[in-house]
Amino acid sequence: MLFLGKKTAVDLNLSQLPSLDNPLAWDEDRYHPSGSSRDAVDGKQARRTCASLECTSSWVAPWRSRRRPIFEDRWGCSGRCVLSFVRAAVRREAAKYASNLSAPHRHRVPLGLLLLAQGWITHAQLQYALDLQRHNGGRIGEILVAECGLEAEKVTRGLSLQWGAPILGSHGFSAGEMALVMPEILIDQLGMLPVRVAGSRILYVGFEDHLDASIALVLEQMTGLKVETGLMPTEEYRSACTLLHAKNGVEVKQESFREHDAMAARITAVLEQKQPVGSRLVRVGRFYWLRLWLEASAIGRQGMLPSTAEDMLDYIFTVDRTT
Ligand SMILES: [Zn+2]
Repeated sequence: MLFLGKKTAVDLNLSQLPSLDNPLAWDEDRYHPSGSSRDAVDGKQARRTCASLECTSSWVAPWRSRRRPIFEDRWGCSGRCVLSFVRAAVRREAAKYASNLSAPHRHRVPLGLLLLAQGWITHAQLQYALDLQRHNGGRIGEILVAECGLEAEKVTRGLSLQWGAPILGSHGFSAGEMALVMPEILIDQLGMLPVRVAGSRILYVGFEDHLDASIALVLEQMTGLKVETGLMPTEEYRSACTLLHAKNGVEVKQESFREHDAMAARITAVLEQKQPVGSRLVRVGRFYWLRLWLEASAIGRQGMLPSTAEDMLDYIFTVDRTT
């Protein structure tokens, strides 16, 4: 028999190959694990090509019985091969964070000065609020509202000007649906809240007092939706948060590691054990968020957003060298 290398396998149309042990099982592959469009089903040969650059095995033997796990649209012929591309993903995310840190800080007009320039507060009020802040801490906007009678709505408008972002109301907010978008711990840590999906294509995300554009990119990767950000009036933000926290989100497991390699090994073990039909890793600040779609039925009608918490699993990992 002629030797068929991996390169040859890529070029072959697998439907022309001898039948599988269980041809019905092909149907499992009809979903697209995590792309922006579910119509973009790759074709079976892509799924059956080991994505590991270090793979040395022939493609034939393991290909028959092993169809999962899928990590970031990639299939590995063995746990060792999965580990190699999980490691690469961990390195990619770690590097992303490092470059975020070194990015130059964009200058913003302080909120107090901005409110003053709009004529919404006086010099004396600003001075008084700054004195209070120096002694007691807190946010300048909240102090001005509490101590100087400024309308809360003016603070929201000021923040909107400061960050060059629209004001986002909480209308259309569905707590049960939004609780599935991301783990609560990230919502709390980031001071941001998924608000609604418009037209099955756009996810609106509201921030309370700042804006983090990098989170938009992360959520786009995780949801397959376009993400638009805005600033939310404090009252609306807080009451929506309370409603969201009362709902059940996707189950979250938290673990921490001393080094990235240990985390990559753990991620691989999780993938091999849970056998997801799709999974993805992103870094949000100091958190690595691994999301698993355990069955194709977990994917709802809006991008990759889960329709229920069932058959979904989230992991939040941290790498803490000091522990
Ligand atoms: Zn391989």
